[in-house]
Amino acid sequence: MLETLSEPAPDKILALMAAYRADERAEKIDLGVGVYKNAEGATPVMRAVKEAEARLQESQQTKSYTGLAGDPAYADAMIGLILGEGAPRGRLAAVATPGGTGAVRQAFELIRMASPNATIWYSEPTWPNHVSILKYLQIPAKPYRYFDSETGEVDVPGMLAALEGVAPGDVVLLHGCCHNPTGANLTGEDWDKVVALLNDKGALPMVDLAYQGFGDGLEADATGVRRIVAGCPEALIAASCSKNFGIYRERAGLLVALAKTESEAKLAQGNLAFLNRQNYSFPPDHGARVVTEILTDAELRADWQEELEEMREGMLALRQQLADELRRLTNSDRFDFVARHRGMFSRLGLTPEEVEQLRAEHAVYMVGDSRINIAGLNARTVPVLAQAIAQVI
Ligand code: PMP
Repeated sequence: MLETLSEPAPDKILALMAAYRADERAEKIDLGVGVYKNAEGATPVMRAVKEAEARLQESQQTKSYTGLAGDPAYADAMIGLILGEGAPRGRLAAVATPGGTGAVRQAFELIRMASPNATIWYSEPTWPNHVSILKYLQIPAKPYRYFDSETGEVDVPGMLAALEGVAPGDVVLLHGCCHNPTGANLTGEDWDKVVALLNDKGALPMVDLAYQGFGDGLEADATGVRRIVAGCPEALIAASCSKNFGIYRERAGLLVALAKTESEAKLAQGNLAFLNRQNYSFPPDHGARVVTEILTDAELRADWQEELEEMREGMLALRQQLADELRRLTNSDRFDFVARHRGMFSRLGLTPEEVEQLRAEHAVYMVGDSRINIAGLNARTVPVLAQAIAQVI
């Protein structure tokens, strides 16, 4: 039987990581995979996570199953983090999922169950996994205009014009903040326009929130999703704790459904638990419990926020340094958008040939679409990268 399988399409980023590891040049720079790194190139366990794990080790009395939706305290704490005081809790359903990817996958499956003919619209470009999971699930999907590669910014009029094509009952997938791969984001006013358009069309928003706290701060990064929840009758939110808690391998995510009424929220809750049951029964719990411990303990929470802020500000400083260096070396404002972008990524707008030349001649590794991971840099390597870019363009 197994011989009938065909090779799956290779994951470009994983292939890039392998090529980087095999490169023997001492001064190589890895700007590929989407993992936060400090100035020493390490992805350390955050202080609050270490402490929460130590406390759990002491206090945890059982490893028996949780509920199908995961620990309700985790959903409670995460909803507070994402939606704040104004969360319309009675209209919300939520389940823990294996990472943000699990939440995205379960959201797509819920949409397919509820409305098999709905088209899911995704930004062009988007995180490649969105497109590949949609394809795998055979869900009708369409791209919408998002990024203007000339300016390095969101083409808001182009985006709104494209979304004019959305039909009633369609779903529009939005990145809550820190757009992957471009780094270009909507402003609060843009979000309001999107909310108005979605309501006008009778379309449902789905927000993928994988980087809360990596852009303008925990509260500011939730602006979009909060405007959606305040302004739309229904919504889906797929959240990830991988980046902002640095617990990538623990697989902690949350899927939230906003329903029109309390009874519809209960119906959604039952269906989300059912979907967990079909796919993996009980969601992973360790990472979720660590997150809950941190969010519900004032001291741990303050320490976590402080460390997250240090990471965020470090990335902003690198952005500014890179934009300044490129401005100096290219004698132009072509790359000024790097300082305006937010999150871990920026799409530089280089050609595939230039990206390849950077790899071959300068040992600089970035994704083929010229997405760089800002956290892969440090104060010493920024000028090296800027010099290399100035040489290839
Ligand atoms: N959505 C987006 C846009 C992402 O970039 C990522 C991480 N690469 C995820 C979701 C999911 O992350 P994870 O499954 O590791 O929590």
